Amino acid sequence: MGNRIVILGAGYAGLVCALQTRKYLTASEASITLVNKHNYHQLITLLHETAVGARSDRSLRIPLDKVLADKDVQIQKGTVVKIDPSAKQVALEDGQTISYDLLVVALGSETEYFGIPGLKEHAYTLKSLNQARLLRAHVESCFARYPLERRRELLRFVVGGAGFSGIELVGEFADALPRLASEAGVPLEYVELYNVEAAPGILPGFDADLVKTAEESLKARGVRFLTGVPITQVEPGIVHLKTGDTIEAETIVWTGGVRGNQIVVDAGFETDARGRAKVNAYLESVNYEGVYILGDCALILNEQGRPYPPTAQLAWQMGAACAKYLYHDVRGGVKEEFRPNIAGAIASLGRKDAIGKIGRSFKATGKMAYLFKDASQYRYLSKIGAVFANR
Ligand code: NAD
Repeated sequence: MGNRIVILGAGYAGLVCALQTRKYLTASEASITLVNKHNYHQLITLLHETAVGARSDRSLRIPLDKVLADKDVQIQKGTVVKIDPSAKQVALEDGQTISYDLLVVALGSETEYFGIPGLKEHAYTLKSLNQARLLRAHVESCFARYPLERRRELLRFVVGGAGFSGIELVGEFADALPRLASEAGVPLEYVELYNVEAAPGILPGFDADLVKTAEESLKARGVRFLTGVPITQVEPGIVHLKTGDTIEAETIVWTGGVRGNQIVVDAGFETDARGRAKVNAYLESVNYEGVYILGDCALILNEQGRPYPPTAQLAWQMGAACAKYLYHDVRGGVKEEFRPNIAGAIASLGRKDAIGKIGRSFKATGKMAYLFKDASQYRYLSKIGAVFANR
């Protein structure tokens, strides 16, 4: 087996994989090329905080050359457009082709629109730092325009989806809107914030007591929940609901779901209905040897045979495990099956509140839960050697 390792995507899975692999294999044993659209790693789990909150973009942008300095990892800035696993080649948007011996696909997920008309065209999404910047600029412009245009739609904000992403964003909105209204001289009672969810309740599948805590906290800050109400269509400035009602809002954000990267589907890897590639117990594609698929574009089943939710902690654990598999591919030896260790799940509700489960049963709420989330973020940054990288 050769030893040109190519890693696609410098997200949580890809970056950890690059760093760890280099710890196990010397530069003479394997070259490592990390291909990424941008020259930075983005902390996408914090996008909601920069989209409407006070956190700077800079704090979410980790320069790759800083975290990979002296690591003998070649950074290739480029957008992957095609993977050809039969030819063992990857094509980039600029026409370049990269050949590999071992491939790691960690291209993340895309927004799932479920074919809802107008949604893709007229709703904001929050999958990248640039999208977060667009949303922030738009929200600020709504407040700036209101005193001139006096249209109430400018002060109406709709978040579609009340999963973790939707709730975390709504929490930031709930904290930020009073400040934005006050800065623009707009009475806060004119501002309306809706969270629309198709399921009967918010945070479907999460513990009922924590869901109740989240709901009460957000309602107390003015959030209006519409649950059991699917969004069926979006037109510019208008959200259509299954009930036949409409909401006229200048700001519509969609957080209704994710699916695996389309490039993975197009490459011919066996995928499920949500575009996630099937992998074996060693994170290797079930139909192409020497191709590892990590993070949001991989389908990993738990003990109950249900897919693990795609999270950052799962992604970086996959990145670390894959580094060991690459080591064994080059040096030989026995691989151990991938067993994720999920430390829990915490959803922030703005900057002073959160709900979460730590381990299997410990539940945290309030500022303490938020601090737990902050601590896990810090732990991740120290793992990738980036605590000071974005300063
Ligand atoms: P999700 O799929 O978890 O939630 C999407 C929500 O949108 C669901 O509740 C769904 O019922 C709703 N929805 C779907 N169609 C709708 C429609 N037509 N109208 C209204 N609502 C509709 O997606 P997500 O929140 O983006 O999360 C994706 C993954 O990332 C999940 O696994 C989640 O756990 C993870 N995540 C974790 C964290 C964290 O740990 N703090 C934060 C964000 C996301």
